Amino acid sequence: VTVRVFNTLGRRMESLQPSSDRQIRMYVCGPTVQSRPHLGHGRQAVAFDVIRRYLAWRGYSVTYVTNITDVEDKIIEAAAEEGLPVPELAELMIGLFLQAYDLLGVRSPDVLPKATEHIPEMVELIRTLIERGHAYEAGGDVYFSVRSLPGYGKLSGRNLDELLAGARVEPGEHKRDPLDFALWKASKPGEPAWESPWGRGRPGWHIECSVMAVKHLGFGFDIHGGGTDLIFPHHENEIAQSEAAAGREPFARYWLHNEMLNLAGEKMSKSTGLVVDLLEVLDRYDPQAVRLFYLRSHYRSPMEFSEDILQDAAASLERLWSFRRRFPGVPQSEADPAVQRFVAAMDDDFNTPEAMAVLFEVVREGNRRLDAGEEAGPWVAAFDEVVSVLGLEPPELELARLARSLARLAGEFGIDADAEPERILEALVGRREQARRRGEWETADHLRIRLAEVGIVLEDTPDGPRWHRG
Ligand SMILES: [Zn+2]
Repeated sequence: VTVRVFNTLGRRMESLQPSSDRQIRMYVCGPTVQSRPHLGHGRQAVAFDVIRRYLAWRGYSVTYVTNITDVEDKIIEAAAEEGLPVPELAELMIGLFLQAYDLLGVRSPDVLPKATEHIPEMVELIRTLIERGHAYEAGGDVYFSVRSLPGYGKLSGRNLDELLAGARVEPGEHKRDPLDFALWKASKPGEPAWESPWGRGRPGWHIECSVMAVKHLGFGFDIHGGGTDLIFPHHENEIAQSEAAAGREPFARYWLHNEMLNLAGEKMSKSTGLVVDLLEVLDRYDPQAVRLFYLRSHYRSPMEFSEDILQDAAASLERLWSFRRRFPGVPQSEADPAVQRFVAAMDDDFNTPEAMAVLFEVVREGNRRLDAGEEAGPWVAAFDEVVSVLGLEPPELELARLARSLARLAGEFGIDADAEPERILEALVGRREQARRRGEWETADHLRIRLAEVGIVLEDTPDGPRWHRG
């Protein structure tokens, strides 16, 4: 049994077959940091975070790369409006995006490349495209020649005639054909600029992802993700540039796209002006409730935002945690086979609404058993497994993990492992103090390191050792 995904390239369900055994190389287009993150950005981050967590839990070794677009027309405009230098505005916004992702429980990517850190590689790729006859220089700009590449349009399913109907040449552009798109743009005075064989300028938007994906994952990587709004032209152009330069295909094997978040039926985006500030929402609601709100929709379905829906998600989250509070500690039982229904849902193109339904069935049955005084351990174990894969972390579960780690440490240092976690911690700290006084530095250091590994940080103060959660 394998995971099945909907591949935009070919528009069909396919079973996910990694190019090398049990390894998934995954690239997701990250935000253009022109303004504060909105609720739609959170949706995308959580959608691909769940996919990544699930694949890792299914036993794949996942390498996850997502980029930051920190130079682009929209950022240059926004910086001019704010009266800030472009790098300063970008840094400010990157900080806010990372803060929001962190609050939502989105795991840090393995690599977080920035466009401005890859300019020489972009210049190199553009040079290759010119050499191979797929691009040309004109007036300090460089354009990709769309007609030079048979098969252009395969991702979005558009043909050249359709594209031609919507194409136009903007004033100041030097395209030979309205279909062509910019790989490099000559900079106007005051704009960010880098040296290139074609004069001072900056990269077009699409080229950065071709460079960063291949640099960090290799050509022919497994999953390329992003929002449906990126299918055309961004992803179509990424494919064209990468495959034209390499002279082979595929650049990426499975293309996964998340749908948009809507407000009153309209797409939430900076361009429509319909935005709800993500950090503001994360301030008013438990971030885990916001995460649960996202998970209730399938990533390929459009979803609607309203305060009511968010309040309902907060109430659902409380139902989860109030069940978990009824069973303190870590269940010793095997997880109930309900976990298999969760797996079936997630194997089916990461069907999180179905997975959530399974989770609430587990809660109902677990509660029923606790009410009846019956054994509920297997349901609690199933609950713990599922919430952790979905990235929902109850505060109690975190404490339960800590208690389990401390019990393990107790065993290691000859302390009663059945004692209360607080007593175990006291004993461990006392043991280290004793070692220090006796000058047994190796033992003392070893204890300090082992505690740090389970998340307890020791500090030595004039009043003796103090500890806090790291
Ligand atoms: Zn991209």
